[in-house]
Amino acid sequence: MSLGEILRERIRAHGPIPVADYMAACLGDPTHGYYTTRDPFGAKGDFTTAPEISQIFGELIGLWTVAVWQQMGMPVPVRLVELGPGRGTMMSDILRATKVVPAFSEVATVHLVETSPLLQERQRETLAAASVPISWHADLDDVPNGATIVLANEFVDAQPVHQAVKRADGWHARLVGLDAGENLAFTLAPAADPAIAQSIPENLRDAPEGVLYEWRDEAPTKMLADRAARTGAALVIDYGHAEPGLGETLQALRAHAFVDPLETPGEADLTAHVDFSALARIAADVGARVDGPITQGDFLRRLGIDRRADRLKAANPEKAETIAAACARLTSPQKTGMGGLFRVIGFAAPSLGPLPALEPPR
Ligand code: SAH
Repeated sequence: MSLGEILRERIRAHGPIPVADYMAACLGDPTHGYYTTRDPFGAKGDFTTAPEISQIFGELIGLWTVAVWQQMGMPVPVRLVELGPGRGTMMSDILRATKVVPAFSEVATVHLVETSPLLQERQRETLAAASVPISWHADLDDVPNGATIVLANEFVDAQPVHQAVKRADGWHARLVGLDAGENLAFTLAPAADPAIAQSIPENLRDAPEGVLYEWRDEAPTKMLADRAARTGAALVIDYGHAEPGLGETLQALRAHAFVDPLETPGEADLTAHVDFSALARIAADVGARVDGPITQGDFLRRLGIDRRADRLKAANPEKAETIAAACARLTSPQKTGMGGLFRVIGFAAPSLGPLPALEPPR
């Protein structure tokens, strides 16, 4: 049975399911989920991420990590945690870059939080030559305590979103059900849900009828920010908006093209914009220091992407154009680049002071 058939069966038996349950099944179903069944990255896959565009991305994150460790007072040991490492490319570039500071690379242990056994295997291959101890975990909670730096690139966008639509009588949860032809189709819960109305940010509560609001469960962000506040720092990089907003951003990508999110469950990547204002609010509520968000373009420029690119070009003149194009893609605020839509936010122990490269602009 395909995931589409399984979901239709479930909806026939028990009724429409919340959008978040649909997204969770499409991405994470243990047998049919998108990440469970494939390596989706790169030109031949469905989408490309920053670490797959250029090694410079991971190298700069590596320098950031060492700077934060120094700011933390160089604790030994230090746990370097990555959420959703994909192919393991970013961690591999980080570990190469941090070798220049043996005091760090000799005391770091790496913890990869990854649910897909197939991608865990891929990460094992990529990191086979790494000289630091690496372990895999299903959840951040399973990573042993102690001084910790957590990194998450394009992880949060893959976490399920809930959706609700405003009607005259209040906010109705948006669900996935079946249309007359038994195809998956969006529908609304028949009754308005007062709990949803409560959770809508105040400035959006007067929104006109018909608008849609998206949000994620708060628990994973609480866990992440709480860990950062108690033991070190966390860096979240993703695409999304800095202010709370209305409207649907759930999207499906297949072979680098947008497709209908309900058309091929489990076969297309499903993501939604990250609401950085929600992350900041949740993190501040658990007592974390919050720095940013700033754009990925600003972040990488502050970490010296231009200088690093110049050195790489000088060492590999035949690749100069490719390197320049990759850096432009990572930093450009234009539509073709990630520099404007992608944002970076940091959480930390309140005693730490501003995290590197995330200080507010002067
Ligand atoms: N960070 C990588 C991959 C991003 S794709 C990159 O930038 O290239 C999202 C990654 O998160 C995949 O590795 C996916 O399997 C993993 N993932 C998604 N949801 C997860 C969850 N709840 N727990 C652990 N890993 C998850």
